Amino acid sequence: MTAPSAPITQDVLTIPRKETASERRNLVGLTREKLRDALIEAGTPEKQAKMRVDQLWQWIYQKGVRDFDSMTNLAKAYRATLAEAFEIVVPEVVQRHVSADGTRKYLVRIAGGHEVETVYIPEDSRGTLCISSQVGCTLTCSFCHTGTQKLVRNLTAGEIVGQIMLARDDLGEWPEPGRAPKDETRLISNIVLMGMGEPLYNFEAVRDAMKIAMDGEGISLSRRRITLSTSGVVPEIARTAEEIGCMLAVSFHATTDDVRDKLVPINRKWNIVELLDALRAYPKLSNSERITFEYVMLKGINDSDADARRLVKLIRGIPAKINLIPFNEWPGAPYERSDWERIEAFADIVYKAGYASPVRTPRGEDIMAACGQLKSATERGRKSRAQIAAEAGAAGAGA
Ligand code: SAH
Ligand code: SF4
Repeated sequence: MTAPSAPITQDVLTIPRKETASERRNLVGLTREKLRDALIEAGTPEKQAKMRVDQLWQWIYQKGVRDFDSMTNLAKAYRATLAEAFEIVVPEVVQRHVSADGTRKYLVRIAGGHEVETVYIPEDSRGTLCISSQVGCTLTCSFCHTGTQKLVRNLTAGEIVGQIMLARDDLGEWPEPGRAPKDETRLISNIVLMGMGEPLYNFEAVRDAMKIAMDGEGISLSRRRITLSTSGVVPEIARTAEEIGCMLAVSFHATTDDVRDKLVPINRKWNIVELLDALRAYPKLSNSERITFEYVMLKGINDSDADARRLVKLIRGIPAKINLIPFNEWPGAPYERSDWERIEAFADIVYKAGYASPVRTPRGEDIMAACGQLKSATERGRKSRAQIAAEAGAAGAGA
């Protein structure tokens, strides 16, 4: 889909939905290997396959082209062959909200009529796109709006990388051919997997999508500009280092198991000690400098001076940055945001212990686009992880 290029004169834009039932296979989200196999299956000679993969990736991910006919370095007959077997589609934006602070929230429709949210946050020195990895989340962190959403499905790799592409469509960021902008001058210069869902419960699709995001012939962002946030799926952390190698953030949020059990219930499965062990190994395995510890500030729950001191003691020895997130309230939330003086006092203790401790400025609050507020309207019964994995497997096989 192509978003309207007209200036925004209203803060909500609803785009008419369109159904696209197609037999053709979508090329967006296929790894190099999968794309190569698909091309050979469709009749591309094996000897040419690698070159065709490079060419197609450049058209799809660097130039934003969606129709084979525009691929002028391919022979006409070959373009027609491709068009018969394949298509290039990204999820559809059905609504776009623009905050007074410039933050943009896209309500994105994926196959099956499900909806996820993608958020673009412009800042002076960078532009961050916050993308979703699942519809809803099977986990039930008590302070998170997404965790109250019942319907859950894993996104495919195409739906994950497609969120970057649809945001580029909306921002008009497809570069002039052959003049890919440098990371720091891009509108979308950073990607965070901090939207809806737990990325490490959808490992393969997230990995494949991020590999495309990091590939020089793909979206071409440095792996240091991609941050995956996990609630603490311990067994997948080493694999994230080895198979993705991006920056890691962890939703830490508490300094005792008692409190973390309540805030981030996955802690009952893998507790603080087990989580810290996995995190300690991450920087070396992934060759990344440091881990971001996310810490949501909840009034009277986890924000005392004693918490701050315990926090720095716990993470001693791990190269880290501590990101303090003032709680973003949502209707019916069982917590309140800590007072600013409390947040500052907490930040001060962390800072004096030698850690960078930025307080994350809430962005896009007026359009419910802030961290942990994302929750789309489509809800049905909650599914188990096994069900989701089985369905994702079936969808992947049929895609
Ligand atoms: N599932 C992953 C990534 C998505 S959440 C994870 O939990 O890490 C992105 C960040 O927002 C996490 O640190 C999460 O704990 C935090 N968050 C969730 N709800 C929030 C809220 N209401 N206010 C502030 N931060 C919140
Ligand atoms: Fe899921 Fe993350 Fe929200 Fe927890 S904080 S419910 S893991 S999205």
